[in-house]
Amino acid sequence: MNKIFEIPLYPYARHPDQDATTPVQHKVIIIGAGPVGLAAAIDLAQRDVPVLVLDDNDRVSFGSRAICFSKRTLEILDRLGCGDVNVETGVTWNTGRVFFNEREIYTFNLLPEEGHKRPAFINLQQYYFEQFLFERVQQLVEEGKPIEIRGRNRVEAIGAHPDHVRLEIETPEGPYELHAEWLIACDGANSPTRRMMGLDFVGRVFEDNFLIADVIMKADFPTERWFWFDPPFNRGQSALLHRQPDNVWRIDLQLGWDIDREAEKRPERVIPRLKAMLGEDVEFDLEWVSIYTFQCRRMERFRHGRVIFAGDAAHQVSPFGARGANSGLQDVDNLCWKLAMVLEGQAPVRLLDSYDWERVYGADENILNSTRSTDFITPKSEMSQIFRDAVLDLAARHEFARPLVNSGRLSVPCVYDDGPLNTDDISNTLPARTRPGAPVEDAPLGEGWLIDALGEGFTLLAIDTACPQDVTLEGVALTTLSVGAKDNPLLGARYLGAQPHAVYLVRPDQHIAARWAEYNEEAVSASLKRATARA
Ligand SMILES: Cc1cc2nc3c(=O)[nH]c(=O)nc-3n(C[C@H](O)[C@H](O)[C@H](O)COP(=O)(O)OP(=O)(O)OC[C@H]3O[C@@H](n4cnc5c(N)ncnc54)[C@H](O)[C@@H]3O)c2cc1C
Repeated sequence: MNKIFEIPLYPYARHPDQDATTPVQHKVIIIGAGPVGLAAAIDLAQRDVPVLVLDDNDRVSFGSRAICFSKRTLEILDRLGCGDVNVETGVTWNTGRVFFNEREIYTFNLLPEEGHKRPAFINLQQYYFEQFLFERVQQLVEEGKPIEIRGRNRVEAIGAHPDHVRLEIETPEGPYELHAEWLIACDGANSPTRRMMGLDFVGRVFEDNFLIADVIMKADFPTERWFWFDPPFNRGQSALLHRQPDNVWRIDLQLGWDIDREAEKRPERVIPRLKAMLGEDVEFDLEWVSIYTFQCRRMERFRHGRVIFAGDAAHQVSPFGARGANSGLQDVDNLCWKLAMVLEGQAPVRLLDSYDWERVYGADENILNSTRSTDFITPKSEMSQIFRDAVLDLAARHEFARPLVNSGRLSVPCVYDDGPLNTDDISNTLPARTRPGAPVEDAPLGEGWLIDALGEGFTLLAIDTACPQDVTLEGVALTTLSVGAKDNPLLGARYLGAQPHAVYLVRPDQHIAARWAEYNEEAVSASLKRATARA
């Protein structure tokens, strides 16, 4: 097994803050150096916001967790400066196959159109994902960006005050205290911060167990996602197969609720199950075995004064659909530009309430999709089972039934329809897919990609119409990107449809705030005010 989780990446080192007579105040402290905490730290440091990450560990997370990272996550990683290494190391896939009983019933392509820089998904072990984020942190340190990680610093108590948060921290050399202007809690599903603040989750716990077996084998299965309903090798249950780098294959086998978890993890139980699935002659080595159960639930609110929750600390879903880390990265994308603007005095604190609105909305969408997948995969009554099996039978023969099959609708970014920062879309003759609230749709732009050409802050995307270059409105500097649809036809199709020209206002997280047929300073100023919560 890859041993990178045995190597301390950010070992404990004594810091002068530990010897200060009064607690040192930091601008932003993040609890947790998981994927979400590391990504948030990078995003803030790139915006020159000083950030300190505290983690009770000193290395990447142990074992086998997330493997599927979505197109939107890869686009966010591009913005954070580490997209390429993830895509180059990961296994790219767009195609899924669905099996029912003994036969394949259909295939689907998650990215059925050309003209996107990133694929629908890559498969990559979570420990690599975290390692590449950590390496990006190191690069930023070398560039002199204000970012620091302290390993083996466990946060033990929190005091939330109107103007700061007090943290009590335990280290191998004893306790010390810090103050933070803002605290971001990325401390995972069991979030000690949530517990210390007496906050809880709302949602459902599912009564099911899934066996994860990561095996090393040289197999010639194609690089696709294969999902089985009721296969002969796991009767009455489901199964999933994914390829990861290093010839590692992830197999998920549903086991049901009433099992002896310890016994099911033993090789003498696991290996026959895998042989039944892969074939008696296939040679493999077991790399990792665990059993997981899951919950679909979220906190009622993600912002509590100066303490903001993100990632698994704020919401949890079933692994079907790969919505855990992917949605955590979308939290980061949404939060960090807002917090940076608040800290720079460019926006009022209430801009952060839109993080709450938008990401709670996103979490609800994920929970709904995840719960529906789980209910389809594991019907809860005889009638649901009959309906489910009928849908699967129909899907084998008729295309119309395929959208009804739910083997885990895979993570796509949320469109913040009716979001508080959107300007009403009066120009509804433009394409629906690029409406206010939607994340930008990538498209080829000259020799490169639209997604890479957008600014770090707000961008005006002007297509076939005049637009002033890089203006400052309402105290906010705008980057202008003027493009022609004739030379960039896919961009034209995605942003103009049948219209001759348009101007889009794109937020720093690459979601669309507003759009018009042409540039109008008054209209753009009003939308900027709205998009920064100053309306
Ligand atoms: C079997 C399985 C499969 C999955 N598959 C996918 C998938 O394919 N795609 C996907 O997107 N997601 C998937 N997920 C979900 C994904 O693993 C999580 O969503 C992700 O790890 C959440 O990241 P996080 O940073 O919020 O939390 P975590 O990764 O849990 O990180 C929390 C960090 O906080 C630290 N911490 C905790 N308490 C303290 C404290 N008191 N003081 C200091 N530090 C502290 C911890 O050490 C840890 O480093 C899967 C999960 C499982 C279990």
